[in-house]
Amino acid sequence: MASTPPPPFSPSAPAPLGRPDDASSRGPSQALGVAVLGSTGSIGKSTLEVIAASGGLFHPHLLAAHTSVGPLLEQARIHRPAWVVVTDPAAAATIGATALPAGARLAVGPEALDDLVRAPEVDRVVSAIVGAAGLRSTLAALDAGKTVALANKETLVMAGALVMRLAAERGAVLLPVDSEHSAIHQALRSGTADEVVRVILTASGGPFRTRESLEGVTLEEALRHPTWSMGPKITIDSATMMNKALELIEARWLFDLPAEKLAVVVHPQSVVHSMVEFVDGSVIAQLSPPDMKLPIQYALSHPRRLDGPARRLDFRLGLRLDFEPPDPVRFPAVRLGHEAAARGGTAGAVLNAANEEAVGAFLAGKMRFTGIADVCARVLDGHAYQADPSLDDIRRLDAWARQEVVTWVSS
Ligand code: NAD
Ligand code: MG
Repeated sequence: MASTPPPPFSPSAPAPLGRPDDASSRGPSQALGVAVLGSTGSIGKSTLEVIAASGGLFHPHLLAAHTSVGPLLEQARIHRPAWVVVTDPAAAATIGATALPAGARLAVGPEALDDLVRAPEVDRVVSAIVGAAGLRSTLAALDAGKTVALANKETLVMAGALVMRLAAERGAVLLPVDSEHSAIHQALRSGTADEVVRVILTASGGPFRTRESLEGVTLEEALRHPTWSMGPKITIDSATMMNKALELIEARWLFDLPAEKLAVVVHPQSVVHSMVEFVDGSVIAQLSPPDMKLPIQYALSHPRRLDGPARRLDFRLGLRLDFEPPDPVRFPAVRLGHEAAARGGTAGAVLNAANEEAVGAFLAGKMRFTGIADVCARVLDGHAYQADPSLDDIRRLDAWARQEVVTWVSS
């Protein structure tokens, strides 16, 4: 483990919520400006609920979505951001001259979003675009030294080494929104980096943990998650357990942990969000009902904690917590995650791109459920591995991996 812990580890002294030290001339009583990237998605909507319940501590400075213009404009009418960004120009072209609420301005395209997240009015960026498309705006925010609440795990899966290096160079802070990583971030505050022996990520196991056979799983069945309500891509990733593979890689970079210190345990109730085991044998866990509003709020208010809208545990109702090891035969994706976390370099980007393309094919009815992990394993095995890739190398291999899946599907 590195001698200097990365930013998410550093024990930050509790400071009053308000302006960051280097901020502009506005007074401490003013709201923290939040840029919500992917505001119409599952995480985006929960973020707006957290902001609305904050009693004015946070203000959405910017809302961004890709094609869902109607819901985005409705959000703008309710939450009154200064900027509304539509990254898809064709979708933006459908917006009428009078559709924007007073006080809001429209910007179009991913380049405009990259510029706007750098604005001085933006204190925290919630990176909640789905998939590889979320990388560029997250990089722009880190480059500008922003504090990023990271839901888009793909950013770290694809380019973890580059992203963490950039954050360190610019003094930017990455705070996890992913519930497992939020739990780990909280548990790590119980000890020092060299006292950590293992980080245990919990997994719900998805809807097919106990199902006889995974052959013939339908789209409708795969989209029915037992404990979490999420966007379609991550819901399929949970059913294949590829989500846990991506999260292993995410944890490897975010907490600067070697792959052999990372483990996965299936926990069907989704109440223990992850655990850290320390040298003395203590295991520190974070518990709460499965509700993303809590990790989102923690990433917005860190290092403080706030009362908020997330659901609470009620121990009077009784609580059962089960744990079991993941079945490596049913869920080969977990092994792929361990492998990619251990290899580093281009492995994460290739696995992520192959999976994104394969999930797209499954959602379009062009691939079997069990084909997703199969094709990912083949593409990961067959790629021209590089240990220290540039962003261009990553983009090239991302495109290559997608093409491999397209070829596989069409054969
Ligand atoms: P979602 O599909 O519900 O929403 C995706 C959002 O991204 C939408 O606002 C959409 O407009 C926007 N978007 C899609 N394609 C885009 C593009 N090309 N350019 C710009 N914007 C684009 O997704 P979600 O479930 O909210 O997940 C968002 C991210 O958070 C993912 O990376 C996911 O892995 C991660 N995450 C989600 C959850 C969850 O509970 N939903 C939990 C942990 C992590
Ligand atoms: Mg998660």
